[in-house]
Amino acid sequence: MMEDKQYVLIFRGHSFGYEVQATAKVFIPGVRFILCENGDAPEGVPNRILTTISPEDGSLLLTAAAELHGKSGEKRRTLPADAPSEEQELALCRLLYDLLQEMTGYTPPWGLLTGIRPVRKVIQCLDAGMTAEEAGNMLRERYLVSEKKMQLAVDTALVQQPILPHSAKEIGLYISIPFCPTRCSYCSFVSHSMETAKALIPGYVEKLCEEIAVYGEIIPAYGLTVQSVYIGGGTPTAISAEQLRTVMEAVAKHIDLSHAREYTVEAGRADTITAEKLAVIREMGATRISVNPQTLQDSVLEAIGRRHTAQQAVDAFLLAREMGFDDINMDLIAGLPTDTYDGFADTLGRVMALQPDSITVHTLTLKRSADLYQSETAEGTIGEVERMAALSAKLLPEGGWRPYYLYRQKNTVGNLENVGYARPGKENLYNILIMDETQTILGAGCGASTKIVFPDGDIARIMNYKFPYEYIDRFEKMMEKKQTLRELLVKLGQ
Ligand code: SF4
Repeated sequence: MMEDKQYVLIFRGHSFGYEVQATAKVFIPGVRFILCENGDAPEGVPNRILTTISPEDGSLLLTAAAELHGKSGEKRRTLPADAPSEEQELALCRLLYDLLQEMTGYTPPWGLLTGIRPVRKVIQCLDAGMTAEEAGNMLRERYLVSEKKMQLAVDTALVQQPILPHSAKEIGLYISIPFCPTRCSYCSFVSHSMETAKALIPGYVEKLCEEIAVYGEIIPAYGLTVQSVYIGGGTPTAISAEQLRTVMEAVAKHIDLSHAREYTVEAGRADTITAEKLAVIREMGATRISVNPQTLQDSVLEAIGRRHTAQQAVDAFLLAREMGFDDINMDLIAGLPTDTYDGFADTLGRVMALQPDSITVHTLTLKRSADLYQSETAEGTIGEVERMAALSAKLLPEGGWRPYYLYRQKNTVGNLENVGYARPGKENLYNILIMDETQTILGAGCGASTKIVFPDGDIARIMNYKFPYEYIDRFEKMMEKKQTLRELLVKLGQ
């Protein structure tokens, strides 16, 4: 018997399968569609979405039809026969969007924007000479973005636009330390708990320093300058103060930081932050750290597998301030298991009272098997997380933190966003660039990716090995890929 969870997407007479599927996923996230192009659909699959474009009476007839969990519906419209392909694509997605909105009763806050980054879109419009208002109207009218999300995207773009670098030779450097004291229950990163990976760390640090030294040769050889350095993870402060010093000494020795606008170390979890490590970070020239409580509710910290209290996170922040750090970020997550709206509001208020220089609000939503048709819990969760995100979007700007970067999570119910808010002048360039994909970033360490962005917008990627043991054991092989990097950098300079 076919399962109720199976879905088939049938396309006829067009090649917009990718975009149509992306639109369907906004309403039905986390499912794998059976795709069927121009052929017969498999029998017995209960959930079906059909989109067609066909010539009719000198026009183009567009159809979107769906049978979903016992409900069915259909919408049609026509376009002139010579409508450009881009217009056909948008009109077909819009037709399907209207149909699914009607059938589910759900209005996605980001509307039809699926693969497109909202802030990037606004910046493109601003660069093309539109006013902020015109760019906002375009998001509303063309992509059906809600008023609030439109405002968030426009506000973020206005903060970002003047900060963005303009030369292909200005780059970022990312250094990965993929270890954490324990693994959080919601973690989707490649991170290894210290308990299992402790023995690997000395070897890892040694190879990481070698890779940094190689970048130290490559960067000047191709006329590149480092604008931002980001040591992330994992939790970089999970390793010892001495090991952290070794890594940061390698950066100081091999990388010319005279053009760097910022140097971040993601201190992360409170249970790894000590005065000794903070002293190393300061001494070695980092300008910004992140202390990430995620929540200040002890019961939630316990539920997600963090072995520290809310007070420890507060103490770590106060210690860093006392030691002279004047650019501290705090990360929060809306929607953590067992957290509530009131719990999140309490956390947000207490974090704001600490007056960090930036606050990043991530949203954790249901990734799989959440189905708007079937799960009332899913809808309840989305509603709650949306309220948490809305509260941050209201209170943080009122308190003087402006949204400066945002990215949306794919394949999540509600398609919510993560937003970085900062005091003016405390925006983190690296965070903007990693999302914006307009700057070359060299990645060192396991799981790191190197991304070369060419002036015409083309992007080439080179991945390092994913796991520490591979990174250590196959380091020489991985170094062979630096030859490919050199070739790409020659092209970048042309
Ligand atoms: S601290 Fe971050 S990287 Fe480490 S386990 Fe938790 S979520 Fe994953």
